[in-house]
Amino acid sequence: MSDGLLVTGGLGFVGSHFVWAAHEAGARVVVLDDRSGGEAAPLPDGVRVVTGDIGAAALVSALVRDERLGAMVHFAGKIQVGESVRAPRLYFDHNVARGLRLLDAALDAGVSRVVFSSTAAVYGTPEIVPIPESSVREPVNPYGASKLAFERVLSAYGDAYGLRWAAPRYFNAAGAHPRGHLVERHEPETHLIPLVLDAALGRRPALRVFGDDYPTPDGTCVRDYVHVCDLADAHLAALDALTRGAVGALNLGTGRGASVREVIDAAARALGRAVPFERAPRRDGDPAALVADASRAGALLGWRARRSELEVIVEDARRSRG
Ligand code: UDP
Repeated sequence: MSDGLLVTGGLGFVGSHFVWAAHEAGARVVVLDDRSGGEAAPLPDGVRVVTGDIGAAALVSALVRDERLGAMVHFAGKIQVGESVRAPRLYFDHNVARGLRLLDAALDAGVSRVVFSSTAAVYGTPEIVPIPESSVREPVNPYGASKLAFERVLSAYGDAYGLRWAAPRYFNAAGAHPRGHLVERHEPETHLIPLVLDAALGRRPALRVFGDDYPTPDGTCVRDYVHVCDLADAHLAALDALTRGAVGALNLGTGRGASVREVIDAAARALGRAVPFERAPRRDGDPAALVADASRAGALLGWRARRSELEVIVEDARRSRG
């Protein structure tokens, strides 16, 4: 890549894993992050980190021009489903309004390729599992709605202005870099695998299993956990594909589901100790099963999840949590 890469949200969980992968692949990376995500991930030496708001158009255009940035990977955003229900303004502001100011400033200053972090939440409660990209998109919360709205902006900009874009739709991002220097951390933590590990290590109370009467083999919810390093690789492959043409929306998952009970069992095996858990009511907005049909990413990018066996995900996550 001759021109540089603007990475928003590069201090976050998926963003920091991508920055390491891109740096190791020889890309010149500039990170824009507002540092709202708590403790920042350590990034490679030589990566410039600018603290700022993605919606600060003047800052974005100066950065893109001064650093000669030709492509953008846009990770920054609000990601908590429950919070989005209570505070939709925050979600439409960050994920749509500020995202638009970022996008317009970046395009005007010379960015021509964009990879945007999207989510399986755009599908809402799916009718078909595994879910292909063509499935009905009916988000059931403002988080999913805000991500879908931004995908639609990208699509319209692609048609009208020739913007080349890709919107990887993540299923459940999990795991951590095998070297253990990057950790999945959210404030507050709501994600299953960090909570399972912390419960097993006695750092938090027993895990609350949200619902055990779903129509799944063991009654607990089924999700498609994909290793964050696999996600990072997919973004690199998407950037490469964008040099040849449009990409569009892409599911990133393994095609295999794991239930909450299976995650608990895998963690117990990896740690060699029991995971304390208790039954709890269903969590609002949780579909019974979300599993990706990731064949489009395979066909278009030659991508498949390589590190996403549940045991590996849990083991890598455990190592990174010390
Ligand atoms: N989950 C749970 N207890 C928790 C956190 C999560 O039972 O303390 C379940 C949740 O209901 C879902 C799965 O674990 O079925 C994955 O949840 P997570 O929040 O990690 O990701 P999501 O699927 O919501 O993106």
